[in-house]
Amino acid sequence: MKRSSEGIQAAIRKSRRRYHSSVMSFPIRTCVVCSEEFELRPDKPGFANRCPSCSEPEETDSSSASGVEATDRKGESEINAARRKAIRDMLYRKDS
Ligand SMILES: [Zn+2]
Repeated sequence: MKRSSEGIQAAIRKSRRRYHSSVMSFPIRTCVVCSEEFELRPDKPGFANRCPSCSEPEETDSSSASGVEATDRKGESEINAARRKAIRDMLYRKDS
């Protein structure tokens, strides 16, 4: 009775250890920003050489940049169209 329960406990311990080792199998990298060691998980956002806290985007920069992008998008497409037309004209001029 006692022996079999010990066997189960050992099996549980073994399976836990296996699960734990699989969790810890990610490569350990050192953050280039804060020199902190972190697990390089496949789903980790940001840079591979930065820890999760250092690879979080700076909210002030991204919000202002996206605001500018939204307002300039129309003008930018017009510029791109003009640029494309200029390039096309240049290519036609080369051919003739
Ligand atoms: Zn860091």
